[in-house]
Amino acid sequence: MSGNRTFTMLKPDAVENGHIGGILEKITASGFKIVAMKYTQLSKRDAQEFYSVHKERPFYGDLVEFMTRGPIVAAILEKDNAVEDFRALIGATNPAEAADGTIRKLYATSIGENAVHGSDSDENAAIEGAFHFSGREIY
Ligand code: ATP
Ligand code: MG
Repeated sequence: MSGNRTFTMLKPDAVENGHIGGILEKITASGFKIVAMKYTQLSKRDAQEFYSVHKERPFYGDLVEFMTRGPIVAAILEKDNAVEDFRALIGATNPAEAADGTIRKLYATSIGENAVHGSDSDENAAIEGAFHFSGREIY
């Protein structure tokens, strides 16, 4: 059975470019309820751990550098079929391949700086949410 929560980050490029409001509007207008949210900045260690699945990839160093260069917005979102529906809302990793109307099509600049993160499974949604939020911060 699919779960009803996913985890997202509005990445440093989206924050720098003034897109927090626009992206949150798309998210809530698409039926996601925000159950936890914070404005924060990842340390190098945080980013290395969060993206450790990519540590052998050639872009890992740039990814860690990018994700730590400024503040992000982290949030847990609730909706039926949350993981899959949110991945559809954000669009393909490469904004050049993202469908019209998706968040990455609207706000991402490149495959590396692609505005938003979305969990890729229920299991990772739970792990990533717990990475950023304690039980008391989830409503
Ligand atoms: P995310 O996990 O951030 O939601 P994703 O699941 O669409 O993105 P992943 O394959 O998990 O894509 O890659 C994680 C992140 O690593 C991407 O969002 C992007 O910032 C970066 N990345 C992925 N592939 C490349 C690449 N070929 N070149 C540069 N950066 C990349
Ligand atoms: Mg991913």
